[in-house]
Amino acid sequence: MAIEQKLSLMIPGPTPVPEKVLQALSKHPIGHRSKEFQDLVESTTKNLQWLHQTQNDVLTITGSGTAAMEAGIINTLSKGDKVICGENGKFGERWVKVAKEFGLEVIKIESEWGTALNPEEFKKVLEEDNQKEIKAVIVTHSETSTGVINDLETISSYIREHNIALSIVDCVTSLGACNVPVDEWQLDVVASGSQKGYMIPPGLSFISMSQKAWEATEKSNLPKFYLNLKSYRKSLLTNSNPYTPAVNLFFALDEALKMMREEGLDNIFLRHKKHKLAISNAVKTLNLKLFADEKYLSPSITAIETGEIDAEKFRKIIKNKFDILVAGGQDHLKGKIFRVGHLGYINDRDIITVISAISKTLLDLGEITAIRAGEALVEASKFLDKD
Ligand SMILES: *Cc1c(COP(=O)(O)O)cnc(C)c1O
Repeated sequence: MAIEQKLSLMIPGPTPVPEKVLQALSKHPIGHRSKEFQDLVESTTKNLQWLHQTQNDVLTITGSGTAAMEAGIINTLSKGDKVICGENGKFGERWVKVAKEFGLEVIKIESEWGTALNPEEFKKVLEEDNQKEIKAVIVTHSETSTGVINDLETISSYIREHNIALSIVDCVTSLGACNVPVDEWQLDVVASGSQKGYMIPPGLSFISMSQKAWEATEKSNLPKFYLNLKSYRKSLLTNSNPYTPAVNLFFALDEALKMMREEGLDNIFLRHKKHKLAISNAVKTLNLKLFADEKYLSPSITAIETGEIDAEKFRKIIKNKFDILVAGGQDHLKGKIFRVGHLGYINDRDIITVISAISKTLLDLGEITAIRAGEALVEASKFLDKD
């Protein structure tokens, strides 16, 4: 039997949590109307703005990433508004569902799962909108279900040219993994969640709101109460929260953000990039195919095709033999791919270990030779050794 508590999480959330953060989490709760809690919110807010590279308000909601995305949609839009939704995976699909649920008129821009959205299609639809009826463009930056990163920088430049539409972006597996300069790209609404790049357990989500997004809230008529962002903004003026937040997760958030500041944005992004390259190149050496278009590999997740082998069986072997949890494919991809999460608190050792586990599994299944397994590690090391 596996040693208890030794399971390594290599799924795209929840991600591993550093010891320091776990310790912060285990403190006795404090009153959420206390001065101590206000100090905490002041500190986390400042550091969240640093992470988002923005002067905009960054609000913290107790709820998962979906809560932040839903909040972004229902606070800035009104029933019947026309929106563009980019859809090239499970999360894109979810935002279409949310938009429709709230009575928005959705124009879908789709791309096959595993490929990136084409920014030119956004440009075309936005340019043709002479009446300026499109009120928002909803895009998933890193599509976790397929391991694809969409070209948000270009898409957002086209949104700016439209002038009216807001950008509402799911940056759940890109923030804290690769560059998302909110101010430079003029992103209006940016959502993320604690259990991904933030190195803390699930339960908090974050949303940054531009001036233009706040202006849109004045006209929005969709129903909202708990997720009414104006209440969060008002509370933030006194470094507080409208309702009882997950106080202990704030302890954890504060610690995690301080660790991130210590490491520095460039180093964090470089680490994720190296890990992405190490895994994707090792996988190719092992004769496995990457599911995602290689030009658009997400910094946080690598989706791997298993060909004739049932990916679910593959996953089970990796979990039972090596105590590493990797994610399966969703919907029609179940059994066809598995996904390695390499987001947040991940080091070179984790990468080497997961590659070894994949190699050993293939070796046992008679798919590769021992020499090939060794070559995969050599290939991965090339990227890990780089500074
Ligand atoms: C995890 C994730 C979310 C949020 O999911 P929750 O379960 O609500 O936290 C949203 N978008 C993407 C791309 C994700 O990976």
